[in-house]
Amino acid sequence: MTYTPPKNAPPRIHVLAKPSGATCNLACSYCFFLDKELLYPNSKFRMSDEVLENYIKQLIESHQTPQVTVAWQGGEPTLMGLDFFRKAIALQEKYRKPGMTFENTIQTNGTLLNDEWGEFLKENNFLVGISIDGTERLHNAHRVDKGGKGTFNRVMRGLKILQKYGVEFNVLVAVNRVNADYPLEIYKFFRDEVKVDWLQFIPVIERVNPDGYNIYNVGDSVTPRSVRPEQFGRFLIQIFDEWILNDVGKMFVQTFEATARNWMGMPSSGMCVFEETCGLGLAMEHNGDLYSCDHFVEPDYLLGNIQDMHMMDMVMLEKQIEFGMDKRDGLPKYCQECEVRFACKGECPKNRFLTTPSGEAGLNYLCVGWKAFFHRVNNPLKALVAVMRSGRPVEEVMGIVAQAEAGFQDAFNEADADDPCPCESGLIFKQCHGWAPPKRRKKSKANTKSKMRPPVGRS
Ligand code: SF4
Ligand code: SF4
Repeated sequence: MTYTPPKNAPPRIHVLAKPSGATCNLACSYCFFLDKELLYPNSKFRMSDEVLENYIKQLIESHQTPQVTVAWQGGEPTLMGLDFFRKAIALQEKYRKPGMTFENTIQTNGTLLNDEWGEFLKENNFLVGISIDGTERLHNAHRVDKGGKGTFNRVMRGLKILQKYGVEFNVLVAVNRVNADYPLEIYKFFRDEVKVDWLQFIPVIERVNPDGYNIYNVGDSVTPRSVRPEQFGRFLIQIFDEWILNDVGKMFVQTFEATARNWMGMPSSGMCVFEETCGLGLAMEHNGDLYSCDHFVEPDYLLGNIQDMHMMDMVMLEKQIEFGMDKRDGLPKYCQECEVRFACKGECPKNRFLTTPSGEAGLNYLCVGWKAFFHRVNNPLKALVAVMRSGRPVEEVMGIVAQAEAGFQDAFNEADADDPCPCESGLIFKQCHGWAPPKRRKKSKANTKSKMRPPVGRS
């Protein structure tokens, strides 16, 4: 029987499917997906053919747009093997509506990629996200295998496969307390040595739960691996400074693209964390269980199973609609009155576990960092918007900003450590442009696997 979405259904949704659940061949020490295995005791964590077929069918039925994104994630999705993905492509053909096109995306740690994968990914136009945390010592600080060995060389081998076959890919950097101190080293490494032109930065924020497991997000403490809020802000600011003077139109940094869209007043930034509401980006486990979001794969946010109920009907459940609206409706007054709320929107609800200066709950852990970043980029992005609106090439903004900020260096030279930073980030100078990266550690001491969690990694 043909399924017809309810009249008020959204035209499209985004589902992150985890065909191998949370399982992974690596054991990155900050991986928050690790404990998700505990949600499915005794499971083999492999999506069955029945679930796969139902998933593709329902995903297509849920779309009233001609383009459908089929997103694969983990754990490590390549553990499913190529045949699984060949079946997925065949099913997309089987259920394709007239005029419909598919974009398959896959987030991987890259270590299992070989020539056969390269050919397949290219042939089927996959967009690949490959997780690399920077140069060798920065990457290996946390991204290790189950024996505790660094994975940098294996990941870079995978990246070379993607380059060899001309597969479209972007690099995802998990910004943690170690690599966040080396923003320019990371940026220049990818730009100049690896020749990557698309970067995505996601902050590592691991909550410490009283029971030591992360099935539920509770409490307001974070692990020592988690990036500090002002550190994250500075990380973005330092890369932005380099980008806005040298790389506009050449390098694509997801956060900058999304922020520029917000400064342009576009209806969507393209990043869910900067949207007003949530609810249309879901996560599906290997057995067909559908959750409110990838960041809320927790028992309380389980909507149902696609074998029992159509996924679009689950999207339309009151529970899911409330989940989505809560992002806007649960904003503390402090955020409501914030001058950069139009861009930040209180960021992801998963990170809203602090209290505001007046004691109201629901302030985002990264607030200080986001605020600093948005304040710093305000003037350069206004210049960018002006260039774009006038129809001139975006690259022109680099000269304009260079001229406008020519006096910055003098101001930096004169600033005292505890003065407000002249860049207007709102951070004090020693935390912002007066900050210098710590001397390189001979051997990172951060390669400490969690003592409280079994070893399973995330891509
Ligand atoms: S909960 Fe966070 S990750 Fe999920 S859709 Fe909302 S903002 Fe995005
Ligand atoms: S910057 Fe801070 S106060 Fe402003 S909206 Fe974001 S989280 Fe709220």
